[in-house]
Amino acid sequence: MNKDLQNLIQISKIDKEASAKEPEISAIEEELNLKVKELNSLESLIENIKNDIKKAKVDISNNELLIQENSEKISQIDKKITMAKSERELRALDAENGLAKEKITFANETIANIEKEIENLKEKEKINIKKIEELKNEIEKTKVSVEKKTSVIRDELNNIFDNKNKIAKTIDNKIIIFYEKIRKWAKDTSVVPVKKQACSGCNIKINDRVFSELSKSDSIVTCPHCGRILFIEQ
Ligand SMILES: [Zn+2]
Repeated sequence: MNKDLQNLIQISKIDKEASAKEPEISAIEEELNLKVKELNSLESLIENIKNDIKKAKVDISNNELLIQENSEKISQIDKKITMAKSERELRALDAENGLAKEKITFANETIANIEKEIENLKEKEKINIKKIEELKNEIEKTKVSVEKKTSVIRDELNNIFDNKNKIAKTIDNKIIIFYEKIRKWAKDTSVVPVKKQACSGCNIKINDRVFSELSKSDSIVTCPHCGRILFIEQ
C-alpha cells in the first residue's frame, strides 16, 4: 500500500480518537454549566422578589394615602353634621361618612395583607440568598474538579496531536491539505475502507475500474460518489 495512504489512515484514526475526547470535555463542563445556569436563575429570582417588595411598599403608601384622605373627609363630614339643617342632609352626610369609614377599613385590611405578603417575600428572599451562597461554594468546588478532569483529557489530546503532527510531517503537505478539506464535511469518516467493493462512507458500490485502480494504484483514490479517501483493508 502507498506509504502516504498508510500514514493517512493512521492520521484519520488519530483524529477519530481526538474527536471522541472532545465530547468528554463538554460532558464534564456540562456539570458546571448547569450549576451556573441555576445560579443565574436564582439571581434573577432574587431580583424579582426585590421588585415585588418595592411594588408592595408602593401599594402600602397608596393605601396609607387613601386612609389619610378619608380621615380628613370624615372630620369634614363631622363638621358638616353639626351644621346640618335637615334630616335629609343628615342622612346623606351619614351615608358619606359610612362610605369613607368603609374605605378606611378596606385600606387597613389591604395593608395588613400586603405586609403579610412582604414578610413572605422576605422569607423567600432569605431562603434563596442562602441557596445562592451554597451554590456559589459548589460552583467553586466544581470548577476545581472540572479543571482537574479536563486538563487530564487536554494532556491526552496534546499527546494525540503531537503524534499526528509527527506522522503528518512524513506525508506530502498537499495530501494533508486534501485530507483536511474532506474532513471538514466527512469528519471521522474521511478515510474509509472498501467493503464488498462498496465505499463504507456512502455505501455505494464502486465500479470495477476504480476498484482495480484502488487495488493496484500507488496514488490516493477517492470514492467517485462521495469523495472520501478509500483504502482496501489488509
Ligand atoms: Zn463514498
